Amino acid sequence: MRLSIKLLILGLLAFAMLGTYIGSVISSQIVSKKTLENNYLIENEFYAKKLADITNLHFTDMISNLKVKARDKDYLSIDPAIIYQNLYELMHSTTYYNSTWFVDRNGIVIASAPDINLEGTKANTVGVNQALATKRPTVSVPYVGIHGKLVILLSAPVFDDSGMYLGFVGGTIHLHEENSLKAILGQHPKHQSNAYVYVVDSQGTIIYHPKLNRINDNVKENKVVKELIKGNSGSQELINSKGQKMLAGYAVAETANGWGIVSQTPKEAVTKPTWELGKQISLVMIPFIIFVFILTIILLIKIVNPIRDLAIYAQQITNNQSIPTDKIPDWYFEIKELKRTLLISIDYYQKKLHSAEWESKRDFLTGLYNRRALETLTFKSDKCAIILFDVDNFKRVNDQYGHLAGDEVLKFIAKLVSENIFESDLCFRWGGEEFLIILPEVELEQAFLVAERLRQTFESTNSPIGKPVTVSIGIGHIPDTAVHFSELLDITDQALYQAKQEGRNRIIVAARK
Ligand code: GH3
Ligand code: MG
Ligand code: MG
Repeated sequence: MRLSIKLLILGLLAFAMLGTYIGSVISSQIVSKKTLENNYLIENEFYAKKLADITNLHFTDMISNLKVKARDKDYLSIDPAIIYQNLYELMHSTTYYNSTWFVDRNGIVIASAPDINLEGTKANTVGVNQALATKRPTVSVPYVGIHGKLVILLSAPVFDDSGMYLGFVGGTIHLHEENSLKAILGQHPKHQSNAYVYVVDSQGTIIYHPKLNRINDNVKENKVVKELIKGNSGSQELINSKGQKMLAGYAVAETANGWGIVSQTPKEAVTKPTWELGKQISLVMIPFIIFVFILTIILLIKIVNPIRDLAIYAQQITNNQSIPTDKIPDWYFEIKELKRTLLISIDYYQKKLHSAEWESKRDFLTGLYNRRALETLTFKSDKCAIILFDVDNFKRVNDQYGHLAGDEVLKFIAKLVSENIFESDLCFRWGGEEFLIILPEVELEQAFLVAERLRQTFESTNSPIGKPVTVSIGIGHIPDTAVHFSELLDITDQALYQAKQEGRNRIIVAARK
């Protein structure tokens, strides 16, 4: 395949455009990935803080609610049915608790809702012991409750009118079951479908997780949980226990016993929107690239075609063909100058070539053909006549009038011959003062008439030395006197010799061999 400038530039253009396209898609992917990751970190941190605030508020509300309840006179009653009724209302007036309790100062269950069969039993759980020990509004640590479920207990102390401690009113929240706390924590940032929230207590034990089986796992080795245990909030990238990369935001809910809330998004969630963006960029860019490509090709053809035409022109000139140059467009500076220069130099060298060619075939003194030219000239050699003549006693001219005058005489002879022959005839300076005329396609008789006219003209015309010079002439003819041209020359030369011999200033027709 021939590499043309068009192909080269086209290739270059395609390469540049492809490079630009790939570069912009890749850079947009990198930028959008970084931006998205950053956004997810910020969003998750914000969300974790928000959730911590709400959780704090929720716990404050629940405790306040219990404190108000604990002042109710019903709890001073000795009738468990009245207390049960109160606990039942406490449980059903909100979605805070999964069960409610009144436990006396000895840890004996006085009443509980919705269970009714625990009355009189000793509740020896972590939460109950904590509440009884503090005698203050308390949020317990997570612990396994009476029913074997992971719970937390919120409690408010009950005092009689004299200020004596009677026990506490409590509500338990079952961490595996539905309740208002779970409803709050179960949300996730709305537009991040992959994000989820989990909650750890101050010891790093999971107390809320969308996957219920993770609840009660201890994850204090997790990078983010370590920060939470130290009481810090923030955001960071981490690898979770499953080896998954996560973008996590975290915050501590102090009121809820220093629980840590983590909102996190798998890092791979940014991959899809990033690809989407790449696709969108491609959709916008590809038609644009095609449009620019086509436009550039059109312009390219306009720019490159003159160069190609000029190259073809130069190629044809060197192959001796010629094409019109006005068809080569030259609408811009470089091509205009290139075309102009090329034409000037071609013209110059053609002229040089022509004159060299002309000179190589011509006799310098007379301007007639030289002997060498015979080989390059074409004429009908199967029918022609030749007239070979030699100036008589030319040596004397030189001797008497000098060599320069002799030259003038030779020029005079050449001029006279040229004036007396046809354009189709070829006239050569054959030797010093010897001339040859080839008359193509003439009869011998016509050639004789030409020779005779020449002889008479010389005889009767004054030459540059002030008097006429005479010539002796030999005539030959193909096919009349010879068959081949070399033979013709030979016998005509002999005829000329004979004319000299017979006294000069005469014509001898070569004899047929
Ligand atoms: P003939 O009648 O037998 O031809 O006698 P000729 O004197 O012409 O014969 P010859 O061949 O003896 O002399 C030819 C002369 O022509 C000799 C040479 O000096 C002269 N000659 C040849 N070429 C030139 C030339 O270019 N210029 C001049 N001036 N003389 C030339
Ligand atoms: Mg001679
Ligand atoms: Mg002579």
